[in-house]
Amino acid sequence: MKKIELLAPAGDLEKLKYAIHYGADAVYLAGPDFGMRKASKNFTNEQLLEAIEFVHENNKKIYITLNIIPHNEDLIGLKEYVEFLVRSQVDALIVSDPGIYSVVRSISKDIEIHLSTQASVTNYETVKFWENMGVKRIVLARELSLEEIKQIKNEVPDVDLEVFVHGAMCISYSGRCLLSNYMTGRDANRGDCAQACRWKYNLMEEKRPGEYFPVEENDKGTFIFNSKDLCMIKHLPELFEANVDSLKIEGRVKTLYYVATVIRSYRIAIDAYYNGTYTKELATELLDEIKKVSHRDFTTGFFFKKPDEHDQLYTTSSYIRNYDFVGIVLDYDIDTKMATIEQRNRIFSGDELEVFGPEYKYNIFTMGEMINSEGETVNVVPKAQEIFKTKIDFPVKKYDLIRKAIKE
Ligand code: SF4
Repeated sequence: MKKIELLAPAGDLEKLKYAIHYGADAVYLAGPDFGMRKASKNFTNEQLLEAIEFVHENNKKIYITLNIIPHNEDLIGLKEYVEFLVRSQVDALIVSDPGIYSVVRSISKDIEIHLSTQASVTNYETVKFWENMGVKRIVLARELSLEEIKQIKNEVPDVDLEVFVHGAMCISYSGRCLLSNYMTGRDANRGDCAQACRWKYNLMEEKRPGEYFPVEENDKGTFIFNSKDLCMIKHLPELFEANVDSLKIEGRVKTLYYVATVIRSYRIAIDAYYNGTYTKELATELLDEIKKVSHRDFTTGFFFKKPDEHDQLYTTSSYIRNYDFVGIVLDYDIDTKMATIEQRNRIFSGDELEVFGPEYKYNIFTMGEMINSEGETVNVVPKAQEIFKTKIDFPVKKYDLIRKAIKE
């Protein structure tokens, strides 16, 4: 049986390594241009070559996004970049624009092409059209129900279908939106969204500047475009029954802690489904883990019904944050029990911390004395990203992550 793919976002090289290490089957990312996330660090050509080597050494796949809706000026450098990507043996290119599609095909007849969600594919005739054009995979529009997805798979079984299962949702139609461009000049369709949908809106009469009148969709508030985040971890069996081929996690701008936590949970859920141990209890436990990263309340998007007021947030656009990501394990000496840790957020001696890795849920320990980079014994390491050593009584590993509950 073909195994469903878990596809992770990779905003930079470090996040890519964590995504692979925590269980992704494939990663998607962009270079400095032509992708949909300018806010992400993205990859230089040199970093991309390193990324390809790392991913292929781990027998995973790497897809590059070229999915902006380009204007003439955006085409500058496209041919050379596609030639570079083809030479570098990436596994697929993700495109949405027919112009970019034909540039890619004129350079390589063989490179695998995935059609981006930006192309808004919502029916099987469109899938057939793109299949005839030589597209291997369609990233379906987010506005489809599970029933519609099933029907598409039945009609066009040979095309791979990829669906978003986790991450931020926005009120645009499959990413096509003018709100950000209109209000800030930053074009969401060219990767530069300012998230204007998350702002708090008021009404102001032009002769009374500074006097704000509330705009209330209902008695709860004013965040009229503010969607909950998508989360399908409790509905994996339905996704498997629909025969989709790839489950995509959104979030190239998110932290490596976010990527590792979410990917780990979906990896465990997918593997449990295949070995017959996926249960509602396990899904709930994994959802609790996911809730330890910044998130909004969750929705199942369009999969089961058209979103309504229960899928929107009316009181805040802020994230819920119950834990701080505080450190990364770089090394562990089994004989001395000394761990080498890179600090990502302040840690104090006496802090109760959770450490977790791809293979285990988490262990709790209390931070003891720390030996800083000067060799001094300290109770707090003041500098961000400083490397220090401390004793941990149970074994930990490189790539394990440390978090701290935020006290009320
Ligand atoms: S402004 Fe909001 S709705 Fe528009 S593309 Fe950006 S996130 Fe989506």
